[in-house]
Amino acid sequence: MTTASDDLWLYSRFLIELKKRLPDPSTHTIGNSEAGMPIFGFVFGKGDIIASLVAGAHADEPVGPNTLYRLILDIMDHPGRFQELFGRFRLMIIPHVNPDGDAANASWIPRFPELTPFLAGMKREHPGRDVEFGYPAMRPENRAAVRFWEREAPVHLHFSLHGMQFSEGYLLLINDEWEERTRTWRRNYDSTMRDEGLQPHDHDRAGQKGFNYMGPGFTSTPKGTAMREFFLDKGDPGTAALFHSSSMEYHLGRNPDALCMVTEFPLFLVETSPQNGLPENYLALKKELEKRKKQNPEYEGTDRLVSRFGIRPILPGKAMQLQQLTVWKALGLVETNIK
Ligand SMILES: [Zn+2]
Repeated sequence: MTTASDDLWLYSRFLIELKKRLPDPSTHTIGNSEAGMPIFGFVFGKGDIIASLVAGAHADEPVGPNTLYRLILDIMDHPGRFQELFGRFRLMIIPHVNPDGDAANASWIPRFPELTPFLAGMKREHPGRDVEFGYPAMRPENRAAVRFWEREAPVHLHFSLHGMQFSEGYLLLINDEWEERTRTWRRNYDSTMRDEGLQPHDHDRAGQKGFNYMGPGFTSTPKGTAMREFFLDKGDPGTAALFHSSSMEYHLGRNPDALCMVTEFPLFLVETSPQNGLPENYLALKKELEKRKKQNPEYEGTDRLVSRFGIRPILPGKAMQLQQLTVWKALGLVETNIK
């Protein structure tokens, strides 16, 4: 298990650690990125409940991949600990589906939780390059993932580990089809998160871009269909055409009854606003950062930002622990519903 002092690794560090355990990891290569980096896929377990875990779609969200790096290495180092679990489940894991994005963010990831290098160095993909909205075949990374998933598809659970740069607390996305079935589970999850010191990030986007509100801390998973409609309604067919399917839509196409989840823990927490569906403090920070981006792209002097918005990092060890906890809870939920 991880500890609070763990650092965020770059993909290159994971490859080194992987090679220490697997002299020839190429047997797990499922494809290559645009820049030729290997993308890995692992299948663990022989159980009947099939779950897919993927991370790294968005380049500036390194906690998800780090969670899966640690999980994979942990499974390799301590197979006995997972024996019972792997009798019930089969896990398909793609630790990083977008290694080129990781390389593009190499200036700040090893320096996290420093705020200024993060703000000055973080890069993410625009629509048309966004791996999460590129299924089934927009980029080689998408095609590699689909080929891998097809080995075991359809799955019962698909979990895409994401993150936010800033937020007021925890946010978990669940596919609409599971809104009713997760009501008790969500109450339980909420109290677990509060015990971990996290309030819900409460943002009611009134269904805009397909994000249906399920109460504080919960929203539906993203859909390319809704993104396309949103931009078509705005008279922008060019942008609409840049959105393909999300990984959730791909898996729901294979099994309409699958549970899909997306974690959105932030790198940095900000002060929680009154819980009324509008995260005012978070939105004000976003506006302020837009302004600074134009005036001061090096983001010097972030101290005032920190005190004004109450910015504090979730340290990597803790962040990975929260991600992993959510994955285990989702596996438990699926198992209960299948029985
Ligand atoms: Zn994301």
